[in-house]
Amino acid sequence: MSLSKTHQKHADAYLEKFMIGLKRRNRGQPEFHQAVHEFARDVVPFLDDKQAYKDARILDRMTEPDRVIVFRVCWTDDANKVRVNRGTRVQFNNSIGPYKGGLRFHKNVNISILKFLGFEQVFKNSLTTLPMGGGKGGANFNPHGKSDGEVMRFCQAFMTELYRHIGPNTDIPAGDIGVGAREVSYLFGQYKRLRNEFTGTITGKGLAFGGSLIRTEATGYGCVYFAREMLGTRGDDVKGKTCIVSGSGNVAQYTAEKLLHLGGKVVTMSDSGGFLHDPNGIDEEKLAWIIDLKTVKRGRISEYVEKWGGEYHKGKRPWGVPCDLAFPCATQNELEEDDAKTLVANGCHLVSEGANMPSTIEAINVFLDNKILFGPAKAANAGGVAVSGLEQSQNAMRLSWSREEVDLQLLEIMKKIHVSCVGQGKDGDFINYVRGANIAGFVKVADAMLAYGVH
Ligand code: NDP
Repeated sequence: MSLSKTHQKHADAYLEKFMIGLKRRNRGQPEFHQAVHEFARDVVPFLDDKQAYKDARILDRMTEPDRVIVFRVCWTDDANKVRVNRGTRVQFNNSIGPYKGGLRFHKNVNISILKFLGFEQVFKNSLTTLPMGGGKGGANFNPHGKSDGEVMRFCQAFMTELYRHIGPNTDIPAGDIGVGAREVSYLFGQYKRLRNEFTGTITGKGLAFGGSLIRTEATGYGCVYFAREMLGTRGDDVKGKTCIVSGSGNVAQYTAEKLLHLGGKVVTMSDSGGFLHDPNGIDEEKLAWIIDLKTVKRGRISEYVEKWGGEYHKGKRPWGVPCDLAFPCATQNELEEDDAKTLVANGCHLVSEGANMPSTIEAINVFLDNKILFGPAKAANAGGVAVSGLEQSQNAMRLSWSREEVDLQLLEIMKKIHVSCVGQGKDGDFINYVRGANIAGFVKVADAMLAYGVH
């Protein structure tokens, strides 16, 4: 979709004014500003000839969360000292279903990060075609170096407040950075105890107590399925491609695994300390070792080199390593403009975002200007929440689907998301997946909000 010069000028002016107001109302929240800006620069021109949305002030309403719940979390560490953290749940928008989105435990968690994540979640969940609204939460709690007992006491204290705000038809949290199988189990255990009921209020649960097969793998697998769909539009596939992956947590692990299944060669992974480069490729045996290192031993990626060789680059990110395909799967703003230029100069022709908002707006501009295949997080990493939606369905029906069944549904959902993005993002021969995802995600939520009237 391209506007006439006058209309474009009008849209640019509107966007600028809108962003000034948003920044004024949400001071000191740079990640939230960034997420809204990336969304609004596509949506504002789209609204140009849609008076009903404009009259209803849909964009202003969508960028204000339904509510933000902030609470104190008190617990005692192994030395019996009292510790105090801040817990937050952002219930962003429940127009198309109960709030749904993960919990993040990381020392940097703040309201800006949780609002950006909650905002993006609204449109990501809309893209999955499942009836899920958007939310996000977490705490400024650093699980690194904590004992299992400390993590358990923290999770129990966190849930002791959160439980009154969530429920299977209200808000269904899940994992995110720092919240994996162990934390989800402690959180769900405490929820079940406080409510005296066994309902699917948290997803990502263990298989013995209502979890879904493939949920652990879903975000990473989905990210690669989406990449494969994008490659398909150019008659290409993953086989034989050199791939770089950042991160070594849940999303990175299963992105790497699916790339290996499809014949790709994965040469990097990373953590917050630095990245490892193994030019021989991280094969299935090495990857299994990494998964054990990260999920059981809770070690550092630097340890890989002693065991398997390759090089470790302390304090660095992997974007300078030449590759065909890149998968940022660690955290927000880990891929900046210069990194994007380096990737493109080195021949990278696809970036599929496993993490949320890993690329800065400037980096995204480089990818779009160079017309490489760029799958934004909203679309490319929606597989995790999609399978969480399937976990909710299984819980509600008291059923448990097979691995093959869930994987097939995940694949179908990722294909549908791709089709929606192409539908809204086609620009001549080029597919702008950023615009496609933003508009396709927006329309469904906006129509529901219009239908409800003013509230
Ligand atoms: P994990 O906690 O399992 O892993 C996070 C990984 O990113 C770790 O390797 C971690 O290193 C690294 N990391 C964290 N912070 C930084 C940083 N500031 N700089 C460099 N590396 C960092 O989280 P997930 O894999 O679940 O999540 C990764 C990303 O994917 C996040 O953006 C998350 O929001 C997104 N996502 C996750 C979904 C899921 O299903 N899990 C669903 C959709 C999106 P270290 O071990 O040193 O901390």
